[in-house]
Amino acid sequence: MNKKKQVAAIKGTKDIFPQEARKWQFVESVAKGVFELYGYREIRTPIFEATELFEKGTGETSDIVIKEMYTFKDKGGRSLTLRPEYTPSVVRSIIENRLYLQSQPLRFYYIGPMFRYDKPQKGRYRQFHQMDIEVFGEKDAAVDAEIVEMADCLLRELKVFETETLINSVGCKKCRPSYLKELRSRAEKESERLCADCKRKITTNPLRIFDCKVETCREISSKFPQITGYLCQDCEEHFSQFRSYLEFYKIAYKIEPRLVRGIDYYTKTTFEVISSKLGAQDAILGGGRYDDMMKEFGGPDICGIGFAVGMERLISLIRFPEERENFLFLVYLGDEAKKEGIGLAWYLRREGVECLMEYKERSLKSQISRANKLGARWVLIVGEDEVKKGKYQLKNMETGLQKEVSQEEILKIIQEAM
Ligand code: AMP
Repeated sequence: MNKKKQVAAIKGTKDIFPQEARKWQFVESVAKGVFELYGYREIRTPIFEATELFEKGTGETSDIVIKEMYTFKDKGGRSLTLRPEYTPSVVRSIIENRLYLQSQPLRFYYIGPMFRYDKPQKGRYRQFHQMDIEVFGEKDAAVDAEIVEMADCLLRELKVFETETLINSVGCKKCRPSYLKELRSRAEKESERLCADCKRKITTNPLRIFDCKVETCREISSKFPQITGYLCQDCEEHFSQFRSYLEFYKIAYKIEPRLVRGIDYYTKTTFEVISSKLGAQDAILGGGRYDDMMKEFGGPDICGIGFAVGMERLISLIRFPEERENFLFLVYLGDEAKKEGIGLAWYLRREGVECLMEYKERSLKSQISRANKLGARWVLIVGEDEVKKGKYQLKNMETGLQKEVSQEEILKIIQEAM
């Protein structure tokens, strides 16, 4: 090591190494399969956007906007923000590109990084990754239940069990004001005992007091009136239909009246899936309905609903089998064998077999131990004798069995084992 100062990764970010990246690829492909099965199609939007998009969308009283955004000025003096969440970007894109002119509902999914300047800890990072889905133009509570069922399907596919589904309704523009009034007056009475942050929330948005992690605030707010007692008829009916569809799908749920979620735009349904195995940051995924966002952004009056899964948390719950990778490591000895090996590797790759060859001068034994270290399932040995015969030694590293095979036989054996 030389003495020059090294540059370190930014706090709250992580490198994902190849073995780990395999897990990510697996989870992403399972998720894509599930999303597509339910009719979702992929959309990709930019990682940074105009700051005002999130101020307006995520909401000026949300913790994300107040404390957690990565906001900077570019060389042209514009205020930009690395997206802390995904929904406002999709809504912007739909309006800007007039995607609403397509027949509705629209169903999108997206996988990518998000950025929040929060205090890093286990399960909470400054660059983290989400898989998001959104549906636009579907008012029926059946879709609220369908997306919860889809989340459930994804978790079962990945063999993530022992989760809990929490649901709530946060009402709408009609019924929420009278609830907020009541909540504010109750919070004011307790204001002396609340933390400084919650004191501020009394005026800005008292709903946010429910997000507070301070123990005394949690205890005080547990006695506050619950929004479910203030819902208008429309919201009440929607909530009851949502629950009956969940029952139809046989999804166990718990009503959690404190589940207001940290974002300002939710209307009616909110939900979260949690796991006690995650520790303090226990939410695997969360989402809800946002029926007013498109209109508030100057677009048409189209309702929306969606959820986001945290990739890091999800992956930490999956038990991946300790498997050898399905690739072949080609070992050779001598110049003739090297040439023959290069030809064989070329052939096998064209036939879809993952094949690795390294060109260092090494003994057969050390090449085989290298293959073992890399976790190769197959080793193909090409020596002088093999070149003469046109037959090679194929070793299965799992079983230890070795067989003399022709080029075509290699392919057959590997393909059958795939
Ligand atoms: P939210 O966008 O806050 O509703 O979060 C949706 C999901 O993203 C959560 O349930 C978590 O799984 C994940 N998540 C949110 N914030 C973070 C973070 N800072 N680090 C890691 N995962 C996160």
